[in-house]
Amino acid sequence: MSIADNVKAILAELPPGVELVAAAKTRTAAEILEAVEAGIKIIGENYVQEAAEAFASVGRQARWHFIGHLQKNKAKKAVEIFDLIETVDSLDLGREIDKRAAAAGRTMDVLVEVNSGREPQKAGVMPEDVEPLVRALASLPRLRVLGLMTMGPFEGDPEDSRPYFQETRKAFEALKAAAVPGAEIRRLSMGMTNSWRVAVEEGATMVRIGTALFGPRP
Ligand SMILES: *Cc1c(COP(=O)(O)O)cnc(C)c1O
Repeated sequence: MSIADNVKAILAELPPGVELVAAAKTRTAAEILEAVEAGIKIIGENYVQEAAEAFASVGRQARWHFIGHLQKNKAKKAVEIFDLIETVDSLDLGREIDKRAAAAGRTMDVLVEVNSGREPQKAGVMPEDVEPLVRALASLPRLRVLGLMTMGPFEGDPEDSRPYFQETRKAFEALKAAAVPGAEIRRLSMGMTNSWRVAVEEGATMVRIGTALFGPRP
């Protein structure tokens, strides 16, 4: 199957209201363009430099989501390229993005990354720390918090991911109910190639898929 066939098959299977983010790390601009021509509207990138290279070819034909770990010294460039930064997990990083967004004369949309597996070495905030962080981020004038993102710890059986998606959904619903001033909680990014169907069942509004669109990574 070509990239275009893969894109069309997944778009046809996704329920209405669930957005597809093409996770494009290691892919060439030509591969990304093929995906965009087949209907991809959002490209997810893990590295700012790699995104800048692809962006030079693809530009605003698609929207750009940052889905990797953002280093503070890359925030300035990230604010130039990305429409949504999905992985904010500290107030420190949020402040840096806010500052860079102000300098660029824009508002930056962000998601908060949840460490739903409670793995000490992994990125993301613990579920119980989500609301306090969202309150602090929402008070920054140039940030708009739109929801949550999670990876979850498993690569194997997709069913093993379900409890982590459920935990993140719970935090998402609690956050909506908390009605934090300045936040507009409506996006929940979870699920990858092996787990996206489970994630959709558990309430994802965005899935991030790489391998099933582009094939195995080199
Ligand atoms: C690579 C990546 C994905 C997609 O992974 P696949 O298993 O190739 O679909 C999704 N989210 C993030 C954050 C990634 O880094």
